[in-house]
Amino acid sequence: MKHFLLLIGLCGALSWALPILPQTEEVTAEDMQLAQKYLNSYYPEQEGTPVIRTRQDKIDANKLRQMQEFFGLKVTGKLDASTLEEMKAPRCGVPDIAGFKTFPLSPKWPKKDLTYRLQNYTPDMPRADIEEAIRRAWTMWSDVTPLTFTEGSGDSADILILFGAGVHSMIPFDPPFDGPNGEVGHAFSPAHGGYVHLDEDEDWTKDAKGTNLFHVAAHEFGHSLGLDHSKIPEALMFPKYIRSDPAKVRLHQDDVEGIQSLYGPSEEANGDGQSSGSESPTNLTEQVVDLCNPHISFDAVTSLRGETLFFKERFMWRKSPAQSNIEKDFISAFWPTLDGGIDAAYEVENKDTLFIFKGEQYWATKGNIIQPGYPKSIHALGIPHIVKKIDAAVYDKNTKKTLFFSSDKYWRYDETRNYIERRYPGKIAADFPGIGSTVDAALQHNGHLYLFSGSKQYEFDSKRRRVINVKKSNSWFGCQ
Ligand SMILES: [Zn+2]
Ligand SMILES: [Zn+2]
Repeated sequence: MKHFLLLIGLCGALSWALPILPQTEEVTAEDMQLAQKYLNSYYPEQEGTPVIRTRQDKIDANKLRQMQEFFGLKVTGKLDASTLEEMKAPRCGVPDIAGFKTFPLSPKWPKKDLTYRLQNYTPDMPRADIEEAIRRAWTMWSDVTPLTFTEGSGDSADILILFGAGVHSMIPFDPPFDGPNGEVGHAFSPAHGGYVHLDEDEDWTKDAKGTNLFHVAAHEFGHSLGLDHSKIPEALMFPKYIRSDPAKVRLHQDDVEGIQSLYGPSEEANGDGQSSGSESPTNLTEQVVDLCNPHISFDAVTSLRGETLFFKERFMWRKSPAQSNIEKDFISAFWPTLDGGIDAAYEVENKDTLFIFKGEQYWATKGNIIQPGYPKSIHALGIPHIVKKIDAAVYDKNTKKTLFFSSDKYWRYDETRNYIERRYPGKIAADFPGIGSTVDAALQHNGHLYLFSGSKQYEFDSKRRRVINVKKSNSWFGCQ
């Protein structure tokens, strides 16, 4: 499908062919200011990261690299011509990266029948056209989920839709709009009320002449339902507003998978007619995995910033030492590109980095931010090509080495010098006597090594090379 870029015509699409401007001299002061504002708005500081002040004439190269990676541009860390063109295109105001904590703990609505209300109407369009555009935008999402959307009245509606210019609401952390072009709209996640705001300074239309209301509303509704931005340029949830024939705007497979990971498929599409109708969507997660099932096994277990994370299928449980309750989340709520089916994960605490493995690929993340240049191949670590997946991985803080388990073998990786040590692979059964021949998940906790195999968990004394305790894999959750 061909898209037409709203402001910049075909320049954006062809810009890869333009010479790259060096960051000094040729970039005008105006462009520099625009780039700084863009990066500050859409790539905000992460909580816990020290803020390094950049000079007026300098750009934060790390943020710039993140932005270039997100948009599939050449990652140069320099303010080149194609990067500037991308920054000038109209877009959604929701940041492309969000802090680990800004992701809501329950990133979806707890019911399937939702109401919305238009708080005001743009003078750009007849009322009936506005209502029709909004209705159609909701249909995009109700077509592929069990969700329904009806117009409500008063303040009791679930999702409030507002046209506003500049500073436009009293909601905390609601950034002002920026006048015509640039930011066209933004929305809040279900955890923050699901508000939808549309920039009144745009020229709203029902066709492709100005800013198409239906198209932008459909994107913003994705946010109010719990979806973050997609990196796939054809997806509706891509942050850039690409002017296209409104009759041809539809959800990409990526959008469908995203929304269905939260709410499941539409009941008609479900077909089996058995379970879907009677179950409430709040219990969707419970239907799939019962944490206290004595036969439960885990795909991966790891520490992360003091918490312990347990992965299974599309879910993740977070056990924090400070809280007695266990939080359950969709993996995709933290790492939208990783839907589930994680094979292994481990944290290198002194680098504040979590490594996540899926098939022959792995990702490095800081909090929920996937680092530039990932995914990479597991074979780049020195794991032989015959290995198609890692079953478990664990970093030993004492030795600064990581153990990778796959099938009946394991490898030891030197994290300081970045190589697999020569004597590996070793046989799991020979070097970890008493645990069987395979490992599903592995964790180091308070200096002890825990190896998970099926519904059992072995506490292993690495020095004496023997099992010192056997428990159920779910013994961490106080089920028994
Ligand atoms: Zn957006
Ligand atoms: Zn707003």
